[in-house]
Amino acid sequence: MYAPGITQELIDKAVAFHGHWCPGLSTGIRAAVWAMQNMGTAADEEIVAVTETDMCAVDAIQALVGCTFGKGNLIFRDRGKVAFSFFRRSDGKKARLMQKLREDDLSQRARQIRQELENRNLSEKTRAEWEAQAELLKKQRIEQILSQPFEELFSIGEPLCDMPHTARRLPTIICDACGEGVMSTRIREVNGRHLCIDCAEKQTSEN
Ligand SMILES: [Zn+2]
Ligand SMILES: [Zn+2]
Repeated sequence: MYAPGITQELIDKAVAFHGHWCPGLSTGIRAAVWAMQNMGTAADEEIVAVTETDMCAVDAIQALVGCTFGKGNLIFRDRGKVAFSFFRRSDGKKARLMQKLREDDLSQRARQIRQELENRNLSEKTRAEWEAQAELLKKQRIEQILSQPFEELFSIGEPLCDMPHTARRLPTIICDACGEGVMSTRIREVNGRHLCIDCAEKQTSEN
């Protein structure tokens, strides 16, 4: 039995977007469904998400909540944490979900299987057996994530950053070195020349 709000339709939608079915995506689905229930969806860019991970889980936020990089309402704040902050522009409601780390039978088993598979001297047959175990465990982990109470998966707190600004269309400036068009906020001034980041870095490393 899945947790309330988790439907096969939502799962299918997230898997279609992400390309495969995995525990990380399942974790993201739980966060996405929480956001849909508590903040709404982002069809109108009303909801802004700040993601602290660029791994599997964030694809569920893009597929289900509708916060995407292209719309400018998904901001990557690279912290290597499975954490998502949501902001609602209309009333300023905000929250940060942080994945809780748990030590349980499944995580211990996962560690054991990983160690076994690191052994290069395994026979082909034994390796295949451990890989089958890993596959089975992955399914169990997905089941667990999709069914356990939300508060066991995530803690809810205050965002660590302010609500991001609305996406703005900015002028394009031509880089004086490579001639490519660059969004004005990404232009660097080096010795009076306007350079794109790559050309600016090349210039500084040559000096
Ligand atoms: Zn994945
Ligand atoms: Zn350039």
